[in-house]
Amino acid sequence: MRETGAGPRVLLRRLREMMAEAMEPQERLDRIVREIAQNMVAEVCSLYILRADSVLELYATEGLNPNAVHLAQLRLGQGLVGSIAASARPLNLSDAQKHPAFAYLPETGEEAYHSFLGVPVLRAGRTLGVLVVQNRTQRHYREDEEEALETVAMVIAEMIATGDLARLTRPGIELDLSRSVNLKGLPFNDGVGLGHVVLHEPRIVVTNLFNEDSDQELERLDEALSSLRLSIDDMLSRRDVAFEGEHRAVLEAYRMFANDRGWVRRLEEAVRNGLTAEAAVEKVQSDMRARMLHMTDPYLRERMSDFDDLANRLLRQLMGRGADALAEVMPKDAIVVARSMGAAELLDYPRERLRGLVLEDGAPTSHIVIVARAIGLPTVGQVKGAVSMSENGDAIIVDGEDGQVHLRPQGDIETAYAEKVRFRARRQKLYHELRAKPAQTKDGVPVELLMNAGLAVDLPQLADSGAAGIGLFRTELQFMVALTFPRVEAQERLYREVLVAADGKPVTFRTIDIGGDKVLPYFKGAQHEENPALGWRAIRLTLDRPGLLRTQIRALLKAAGGRELKLMLPMVTEVDEIRQARAIIDREVRHLSRFAHHLPTSLKLGAMIEVPALLWQLEELMQAVDFVSVGSNDLFQFVTATDRGNTRIAERFDPLGVPFLRLLRQIAQAGQAVHTPVTLCGELAGRPISAMALLGIGYRSISMAPASIGPVKAMLCELPLEALMERMEDALANHGAKTDIRAELTAFAREHDIPL
Ligand code: PEP
Ligand code: MG
Repeated sequence: MRETGAGPRVLLRRLREMMAEAMEPQERLDRIVREIAQNMVAEVCSLYILRADSVLELYATEGLNPNAVHLAQLRLGQGLVGSIAASARPLNLSDAQKHPAFAYLPETGEEAYHSFLGVPVLRAGRTLGVLVVQNRTQRHYREDEEEALETVAMVIAEMIATGDLARLTRPGIELDLSRSVNLKGLPFNDGVGLGHVVLHEPRIVVTNLFNEDSDQELERLDEALSSLRLSIDDMLSRRDVAFEGEHRAVLEAYRMFANDRGWVRRLEEAVRNGLTAEAAVEKVQSDMRARMLHMTDPYLRERMSDFDDLANRLLRQLMGRGADALAEVMPKDAIVVARSMGAAELLDYPRERLRGLVLEDGAPTSHIVIVARAIGLPTVGQVKGAVSMSENGDAIIVDGEDGQVHLRPQGDIETAYAEKVRFRARRQKLYHELRAKPAQTKDGVPVELLMNAGLAVDLPQLADSGAAGIGLFRTELQFMVALTFPRVEAQERLYREVLVAADGKPVTFRTIDIGGDKVLPYFKGAQHEENPALGWRAIRLTLDRPGLLRTQIRALLKAAGGRELKLMLPMVTEVDEIRQARAIIDREVRHLSRFAHHLPTSLKLGAMIEVPALLWQLEELMQAVDFVSVGSNDLFQFVTATDRGNTRIAERFDPLGVPFLRLLRQIAQAGQAVHTPVTLCGELAGRPISAMALLGIGYRSISMAPASIGPVKAMLCELPLEALMERMEDALANHGAKTDIRAELTAFAREHDIPL
């Protein structure tokens, strides 16, 4: 490596000196480009910066016409410079004018130059500008020269990010870095959140860019890499990941990457060029992120993001702990932005400061989303690029109603949303006031409005929402957020906590409903299934693994000592499954009474109606149980052969259509005939219009997300039920197979001033 006169080290040293000197930003840029040109023996060096209006503006040049500075402009994607910015990839050409993308800007006088090397100015994967060197002769720039220019570009990216260049922009023009961006994702949990970005993996700010001694720095890098590898080996040998599974596969991939020669070589190269080890990691990570943003293949994206995680770990190693003292910088209105995160990690944030959640990944049924929903956090998922585009502290709006994220929103958007939030707050206040009112229709028919729950964090909602009890406690959630199977004591503790919080209100515990889309990473028995929704899940799984069911039943029986215990079995297909489950329950009861345990005062056993086969055994079913609960999510999915997680067909068939409503009515009538209580606990119960339909066909007990109780009760209080029942009877009569029930319901609501 050349050490005197030229070479990247010398260049970086000169840059450092220039950045330390007090001077006007334009002068600093002019000197930087001059220095680069000299150092790289190029006749031209130019810097283009990306503006918020997607124009690349020439900010400084050595060699081109100086009058073109701040005048020469290229659109993103236009010309060589525009292509580099758009693709975030360098271009190295010995005859630039022959390149199909070449665009001639007469004001610059660049026609005289043939060879061209341009690199994107990147920060955290985002393109902020383009740095170019050019030569008159046709030459090919070496790989190390390209690396050197990229290193310099990184230093310039920091200058842009620290706002150094803001003074050079003309009034009314903004740099891309501060551009407002609207990102579209999928609505995962309703609500609107206004606040400021908190990056879940805080971008570690590398302040020390230049190394004093490359050899010493290489040693530091090497040490950090070694301890990184050791820590991965260590994690791999831990007991809880020692078996095969998803965790292990991820860690194995990390181990492979940590030893990846290409990655390590690029890190070392950047250090040799004069960067500190941490700045080198940041540089290589930024290149990776840029590539990731342009990558559509999900497998490759996944691999790239493993590298990204690894780079973060390495940065922490190098900068020591404390580099991300989260709690201190946590704003009062935090909106957490993450690629993905574990459910437990979300609960580590102080709830009172959280206003929303934005995920690049995630599915509506992923654990993190279930928890976010449980704590009522507006959530948008599948927002590609959210992490790269955000900086800690940026203003941000999350609209969980329509899946929008507005980053650094403009004034008018902010005003519109502030109004939306006020409107929603007024509505909430209204619902709150309704809590004290009895849940009965306008014509005096009482209706039981219950809530769904699954974690201890849900419990305060019982009082807040005014629910009459818990109609569905999804016990599997405790299993899903845990790292290993919850022990019997932990299960008992949670169930007792629930019953204490319910304070005499009824609670229906559903035995664990795992399998299907609810996977437990630590559960060894599960195998890959072609059709998991139709597979080994819920009661099928627990009857095959009776130990699991027994443990849970024991925990429930103990927790409910001295109170009523209501138990419900998910995904029942044959009445005989109830008999088998009852045998296990009876055995546990006998066992506990033998040891003189305090038993529940009464035990009621129910079944969920989710599998269509039960519809032809309704009579026997109603006699075999104390109550039934319709799981409309699964029942609808199986009746209409429509995968409930598939967004493409989510709206295709209407649960408020004639066939499904007739079927639901049949269930309600079967219950009435033999006096077996019937309730419904799928998502259908939570929307005022569908709740209204359910009441109209005979349901008097429904269970929903706590946030839905208010809107449903507002509907209920204005509902003349008898009139509705007549109307529904007519609409569902034989001649009505094509009737648009939704339209009928909307018209009925309008006629009677019912808020939907
Ligand atoms: C249902 O299927 O409607 C139901 C309530 O159960 P889950 O949504 O937990 O599958
Ligand atoms: Mg279900």
